[in-house]
Amino acid sequence: MERTLILAKPDALQRGLVGRLLTRFEQKGLKLAGLKLMVMTPEIAAQHYEAHEERPFYPGLVRFMTSSPIVAMAIEGIGAIAICRKLMGATFGCNAEPGTIRGDFGVSNSFNLVHGSDSPEAAEKELALYFKAEELLEYDLNSFQWIYDPVEELGQEG
Ligand code: UDP
Ligand code: MG
Repeated sequence: MERTLILAKPDALQRGLVGRLLTRFEQKGLKLAGLKLMVMTPEIAAQHYEAHEERPFYPGLVRFMTSSPIVAMAIEGIGAIAICRKLMGATFGCNAEPGTIRGDFGVSNSFNLVHGSDSPEAAEKELALYFKAEELLEYDLNSFQWIYDPVEELGQEG
């Protein structure tokens, strides 16, 4: 199992799309391990977007991400990081394929509704920026028995 950080960005919250975004991840068969409505502080933004600090879009990105609340989600599943990136679609809404979140709900290069960690290292770092260890819950999701093959994929005895 892998965990990844997903953010519903300020545009998603302001446009009333948070529920529909969360549904995309749920209906795919991913498990919610953490959920939080919060404001991204300038301190969190600086750490989260450290790698983009020198890019021309950085000041606008930080302004956007700190302008209004976000919803942080910890999403779990086998291969969750790559699966979530696929569900999100390409970075720019104008390029993102229909059927993806960014392809279906937006057209902007910057107001693109959703963030998802892009590697296991990023997921670990980013989850720690938004969630304390005890806010990430361990529980059995009953539906996993029908989402995965329990013997082949979950390693349970047949
Ligand atoms: N971004 C932007 N202009 C750009 C490139 C990126 O405003 O030319 C913003 C956009 O909101 C994007 C975020 O910066 O989601 C992080 O960029 P990245 O390349 O990491 O894209 P992502 O991983 O979100 O697809
Ligand atoms: Mg990125």
